[in-house]
Amino acid sequence: MATPVALTIATSDPSGGAGIQADLKTFSALGAYGTAVLVALTAQNTHGVTGIQTIPTAFITEQLDTLFADVRIDAVKIGMLANAAIVDTVVDALERHRPPYVVLDPVMVAMSGDRLLERDAVRTLRDRLLPLVDIVTPNLPEAADLLGVEPARTDQEAEDQARALRELGAKRVLLKGGHRTESAESTDLFVDGDTLVRLSASRVETKNSHGTGCTLSSAIAALLARGFAWGDAVREAKAYVTESLRAADSLGVGTGNGPVHH
Ligand code: PLP
Repeated sequence: MATPVALTIATSDPSGGAGIQADLKTFSALGAYGTAVLVALTAQNTHGVTGIQTIPTAFITEQLDTLFADVRIDAVKIGMLANAAIVDTVVDALERHRPPYVVLDPVMVAMSGDRLLERDAVRTLRDRLLPLVDIVTPNLPEAADLLGVEPARTDQEAEDQARALRELGAKRVLLKGGHRTESAESTDLFVDGDTLVRLSASRVETKNSHGTGCTLSSAIAALLARGFAWGDAVREAKAYVTESLRAADSLGVGTGNGPVHH
């Protein structure tokens, strides 16, 4: 049987904890061959992002069209897209190439507080990209931004927002509960059709959690590429992120908020 191939369409994080670098490590760790189309570069370390340089959209298109013309892609993960023109470019390419699975991590703001998607691009992402994806994996602030509401503070609000996101067009939603730090558990909500499943893991206390969102979404893409059923892919991906967080303190990379251990 051919090796499953996953593609990440995302941005470089030179510190290796998030972005394209995290995606490729995760693909490898979970048994998928990794391919990557870069849409932007960041300058960043474990303290934050100091600059963003985008790739011209015509060259993003060329990267995607050249890759798809030759390589069978089993699953796509989409990460940081930086601006509305890049969102449009990626949407157009997905419409041309129609990969079997698309996982969208709607990256907006880094944990350091740096903005990674321009404000006016949120609407393009919601209106054009969301309806094309098989699953969207927002954290609570991203879900709130997409819905134009305040971040959920109660279980009921989180549940309502997870279902509302599916009504915006994403086929499935994994709403990540990690930002509700008052809770001893980190509970994610997986909505598939009318079914809502709560996925809980005990919270890992560490300042080294850079790249958890990138890791989770690329883990889902790798497992879908391997043929896992949806429920299994989401559960296994969360378990992988929990392990990556537990091992993070052993890395000692950088002096700020360090990366998780892929
Ligand atoms: N840099 C890049 C290129 C990313 O794609 C992301 C998140 O997706 C981040 C930084 C932020 O990562 P975190 O919020 O985990 O620090």
